Amino acid sequence: MLNQSKVDALRNLPVTPRTLIIDGEFCASETGETHEVLSPINGQVLTTTAAGTKNDADRAVAAARAAFEDGRWSCLAPAARKKLMLRWADLIEAETLELAVLGVRDNGTEIAMAIKAEVGSAVNTIRYYAEAIDKIYGQVAPTSEDILGLVHHEPIGVVAAIVPWNFPLMIGAWKLGPALAAGNSVVLKPAETASLSLLRIAELALEAGIPPGVLNVVTGAGRVVGEALALSMDVDVMVFTGSGGVGRRLLESSACSNMKRCYLELGGKSPNIVFDDARDLTEAAKVSAGGIFRNSGQVCVAGSRLLVQKSIHDEFVAELAKHAAAMKVGDPLDITTSSGAVNNLTQLEQDLGFVETAQAEGGTVYQGGKRILEETGGYYMEPTIITGVKPQDSVAQKEVFGPVLAVTPFEDETEAAAIANSTVYGLAAGVWTADLGRAHRMVRAVRSGVVHVNTYGGPDVTVPLGGVKQSGNGHDKSLHAFEKFLNLKTAWIKL
Ligand code: NAD
Repeated sequence: MLNQSKVDALRNLPVTPRTLIIDGEFCASETGETHEVLSPINGQVLTTTAAGTKNDADRAVAAARAAFEDGRWSCLAPAARKKLMLRWADLIEAETLELAVLGVRDNGTEIAMAIKAEVGSAVNTIRYYAEAIDKIYGQVAPTSEDILGLVHHEPIGVVAAIVPWNFPLMIGAWKLGPALAAGNSVVLKPAETASLSLLRIAELALEAGIPPGVLNVVTGAGRVVGEALALSMDVDVMVFTGSGGVGRRLLESSACSNMKRCYLELGGKSPNIVFDDARDLTEAAKVSAGGIFRNSGQVCVAGSRLLVQKSIHDEFVAELAKHAAAMKVGDPLDITTSSGAVNNLTQLEQDLGFVETAQAEGGTVYQGGKRILEETGGYYMEPTIITGVKPQDSVAQKEVFGPVLAVTPFEDETEAAAIANSTVYGLAAGVWTADLGRAHRMVRAVRSGVVHVNTYGGPDVTVPLGGVKQSGNGHDKSLHAFEKFLNLKTAWIKL
């Protein structure tokens, strides 16, 4: 049970300056430069992290390569890797509250969400891949009698993982879990504004007995450390979650370096489609409000476009607004808060800018729209509902990544699907209807990686998450994630 006094006991603990972790060593960056970490709770300096350089990134890649080549991890029996990873998951779980509070002070997610979706999900994910790796078999091909055709799975080598700030542990674990279980070595590059909890779990990996050099962490600017990893001639696989703009650069960098495999999980503009035959419109409104406004809308799959059937438009928007207004926005370390802080000031200004643009393009601010609690020094914004949004408006086409919901009415199924598919994104969607046939038709019609039916959010590690169109090109989660980290090697043997 979440307990306020336990959270309060941790909320002001000093956070020691963090270093890079390369080859099991805690080291300053090459230049000794650091980056100030500002807490979105109050805008105050929380600690510093090392500002890694290109040479630091190269050094980490070299350490990962050495670890891979000498087999200290890659050649361990899968069951042995499993044992160490399960120990790692146990150590993370034992520090759940400490890690969650540290992460919240760094990135602003509400504490209840941080415990479940950050630490809890990271623990589950690491256990899932650890448990799976000694159950994956190769294949014997159906060849002619004189041939034995074997298909082996082998780790690929050095993986670079670049992750964003919205759910650093959860998304980090989606990459680290399968990459490490498969026997690869990793260089992890966290986001500048959310690295502390990832650095801590990397320390715990060493404590669990995962050998030095297998998991290296290089903090620093994306355009320095991230770019160095993307251009490295010795990284075999790049896995990335973040914005489309950076994703595009990574593909270019891959093409002009060693053509490393490059898997992208990018943004979304996910339609949440409510039909007038939904079985419980109150429940639909409540879940839809959570589906856009939790974690201040900084959720890649957030249902940021509400498409609502004309016949129930006014009634449904009023109901959703009621739930949005009831959400408590503020101090993310208050256990009664339902939506915490926006991660950084630039993002907050961008969110507010979208509200202005939406109005300029003819939308109406139905509720919210403003920065709040500015006196705290933190970055908070009201849950914002904009009605009268046309499908081609900026707020319906561009990812805000903030607590801003764009509402567009539709007439029928055909129009709903056409509007749903009218952006460059295809990450997630929601459909609310009591008609089973309509639900299945919409699942087929909407181009996205996931379609929620009569709910929004919540798919766990057992199912894949991956976008279509400009939302990405690979899958995190589920056993399919191994496909990014295991090579298929054929042995063709004449008998
Ligand atoms: P971002 O693209 O700005 O940064 C992501 C990471 O890339 C950070 O670690 C950053 O330092 C690094 N980076 C920045 N510039 C780089 C460069 N030139 N070369 C290499 N690396 C670089 O994204 P963000 O603002 O941290 O996160 C928000 C974005 O992430 C949103 O678009 C959101 O939709 C997306 N996201 C997607 C998913 C998904 O599963 N599809 C999940 C969460 C977030």
